[in-house]
Parts: sequence; structure tokens; C-alpha cells
Amino acid sequence: MSQATRFAEEFLTPNTSAAYRESIAKAVEALLGAFPTQPYSGKSPAELSALLAGNILPQRGSPIDEVFEKVRTIIQHSVAVTHPNTIAHLHCPPLIASLAAEVIISALNQSMDSFDQAPAATMLELAVTRWLCEEAGLPSGSDAIFTSGGTQSNFMAMLMARDACIHSHRNWQTQWDGLPPDASRLRFLCSEAAHFTVEKSAYQLGLGTGAVIHVPVDHAFRMIPKALEEALAQLREKKLIPAAIVATAGTTDFGSIDPLPEIFALAKQAGAWLHVDAAYGSALLLSDRHRKRLRGLENANSISMDFHKEFWQCISCAALLLRDAGQLRYLEIHADYLNPESGEDAGVPNLVDKSLATTRRFDALKLWFSFQVLGREKFGEMVDRTIELAAHAALLIKRNPALELIVEPEYGCVVFRYRISGSEDGDRLNSALRQRLLERGVAVIGRTRVHGRQCLKLTCMNPTTSEDEIDALLQLIVEQGGQLEIP
Ligand SMILES: *Cc1c(COP(=O)(O)O)cnc(C)c1O
Repeated sequence: MSQATRFAEEFLTPNTSAAYRESIAKAVEALLGAFPTQPYSGKSPAELSALLAGNILPQRGSPIDEVFEKVRTIIQHSVAVTHPNTIAHLHCPPLIASLAAEVIISALNQSMDSFDQAPAATMLELAVTRWLCEEAGLPSGSDAIFTSGGTQSNFMAMLMARDACIHSHRNWQTQWDGLPPDASRLRFLCSEAAHFTVEKSAYQLGLGTGAVIHVPVDHAFRMIPKALEEALAQLREKKLIPAAIVATAGTTDFGSIDPLPEIFALAKQAGAWLHVDAAYGSALLLSDRHRKRLRGLENANSISMDFHKEFWQCISCAALLLRDAGQLRYLEIHADYLNPESGEDAGVPNLVDKSLATTRRFDALKLWFSFQVLGREKFGEMVDRTIELAAHAALLIKRNPALELIVEPEYGCVVFRYRISGSEDGDRLNSALRQRLLERGVAVIGRTRVHGRQCLKLTCMNPTTSEDEIDALLQLIVEQGGQLEIP
């Protein structure tokens, strides 16, 4: 057998379609055969590490069936994201439509950096991003790009906000000249409930976490406009510059939505960029009933949207939307092999210009495919359903004397506490309760700290969950909490 023939059996070509089909079918069988039936097996990190020990790169390969046998272990000890008791994070069960599209995305293996690596894919991403901008209410001249997630979207937005701010105040090009000597005067303002990636971005942008000002929130964890106004006034007094205000539409812990119209008015007055982190909340756009909660989104300079959250897409799938496509110049660096400056590619879209990444997946396909298969109405109803489930959970918590609701849910997050007298013991018990549920594999629930107190959290984003299942989960929590109370 020639070398070429020996290698050819390892790749998908018209001649190997039977082998490809068989391998994919076996992968599906292995997956379904070992699919976890409870939220988690409960194995500890050390136990998992021992189970997975073995030669990573053997000198010679094994038949694929034997390797699939080993994969079973990984499948069995994965978190079952579709289980109703897997309800900790903004971590969604993926749509079958998205899973099917992934098969095509992987096999085509288009790379979104240049048109000649992804011709039809580039044009589909452009069509989807144009639609996203319209859907968010951004004007013509806006643009968007798929990203790896809210982390990358927030970082990109803050990078452009920083450089646009430095450019307008100092006529200084950060791209060529680095940070100006007085960059330490820049500030980012976000609420106390904003995502930690605002701080992470600030230090990655060379400004330090000290450049982030956390504006107080109200009882429902929404930024207080009056407090933002005061923070901006203090900056003016100290001759500090607000580079951007980061509002959150759907905070990770509470699902709270900052008052976007009031924040926009203040951002405009202060000449600051308004970024809306709608990684979670952007799904409300799909709901006829709840869309109005995003009023003011259309005024943003940039918007983060995650589709691997409440759009039920396989990880990863997200986008950053930008009001003024011209701001993308702060990202642009030319590479002769991809997007030459010479103009020889005039009119050819090379998406690397708009992205932090170079090689990038064709994630737009699965979102588009899911939209085509499900349609707007069904998506909207599923979003509505998650809100109903959270409201139902909150109602049950309020009725249960063993539990304490921390805040009335605005969206899908329900933060509560198992009640026990003595706050120190309460913290310990609530922590232990979450851990116990995980170790027993019966439920994967969330946690967070609110006003210094350890709380529990349900993140309702599985529209297939029933009221009865929420009921049963809360009973389980109360029962396990009771057992922990017995010394
Ligand atoms: C999830 C989330 C992020 C981070 O997004 P990733 O996709 O995990 O990178 C940022 N902001 C908010 C509000 C989020 O909920």
C-alpha cells in the first residue's frame, strides 16, 4: 500500500464516505449508550483522574471500537446538561438542530479568517450578523462578528472603547504607540452585579482592575442611575475619564437588567461609550412578551450576545455587535497572507479584520440552522417558558418555611437560601448542601454570595423542565438540608 493510500483512509473524501458514516454512527451510539441518566456521577477530581490514567499518545493506534469503549468513561462522568436537576449555571442543553449543524460545521472545517478559506460561510456569517444588528435595533453602519463567548465580546468592546477614548482625547493611536502616559486616568463603570470579565478585561487592557468602578445596585440588583450619575461627577472632579459604561442586560447571578435608557442618557452626557453585556439577556429579543425589557438596547455602542446560553446552541457560539463599524479599525492589523493592505482583495470580505481570533469556527451555521428549523415563535415561547419556571420556583420557595427567597426573579435566575438560625452556620450549611447534592450526583445547583451571605441559585434555562420537576428538586434540597442539620 502506498503512503498516500494508507493515509487516505484517515480522512473524509468521496472514497471514504462509508467509513465516515460508520464512525459517526458509532460515536452517536457510544454517546447514547453511556449517556448519563442522573445530573452527575458524583466522582471527585482524584477519582476521575485515576479513571482516565493511561498513555495519551501510544506508539500505535487501536481499532476505533476500543477507543470508543474508553470514551464511555468520559461520557458517563459528564454533567447531564439536559437533566432538570442540572440547573447551576448559564449552561444550556443544546438543541438537536444545533447538534446536527455541528456535524456539518466540523466536517466542512471552514476557517472564518479569510474568504478563500470560507466563501459561503463568510457570506452566511455576514447575513446572520446583519440580521442580529437589525434585531437589536442598531442603525445602518453597524456591524457584528461571531466570537468565542461573552468574555471575548466584552474584552473586544472594552478594547475599542479604550482606544476610541484615547484617540478622541489625545489624538493618540494606541495601536501604534501603546498606552499614553496618562492612560491611568481611564475608568470603566459597571454595576456591582456585572460579570467579572469587566475587571479581567481591564487588567488585560493594561489599566488594572483598579480602573473599574462598581456602581451600587438597587434591591433587585440593577444599577442605580443616580449612583452612576454621582460616580461620573466624582470622575469629573478628579479629572478622570469614563472610557465606557458597561450595563448588563441579564446579570449572571440574578438575571437583572440595568435601566438601559437612563444609563444611555448619562453615558451620552459624559461622552462615554455604552457597552451592553447582554450575553444572557439578549435572548429576550426573541420573546414577544418580554422583548420590551430590553428597551434602550438600540442605543448601545456595542452589545455582547451569547448563543450558547439562552439560544440553546452548542458551545461555543456568541457575537459582539457594534453600532459603528468604523470602530473596527482599532482591531485591524494587516497580514500579507490573509488580508493584504494593497487592495488586491478589494470587495472581498476577510473577517479576520473584525476578529481577535484568526482561525475561527463557522458557528454562525448552527444558529442560522436552528432558526430555520424552529422558527421565531417556538424560540420565543421557550424563552417565556424559562421565565415561568423561575417564577414558579420562586413561588414555591416563598411558600416553604425552610427556604428564603433572596430576590423576586426578573428572568431565569432564582437566588435563595436554606434557612437556619445563626448566619455563620447558615453559610456553612448552604455551602455543604450544594456540595452534598453534587457528590451524590442528584442535583447540580448554583451558588453565589449576596451581601456577604452564602446563597444557592437555580438557573432556569431548560424549557423541557416541568413544574413538578422543580417541585421535586426543591423538596430534595429541603430534605438534604434537613439531614445536614442533624449533627
Ligand atoms: C456568561 C456571561 C459572560 C461570559 O461569557 P462566556 O460566554 O462564558 O465567555 C459575560 N457576561 C455575562 C453577563 C454572562 O452571563
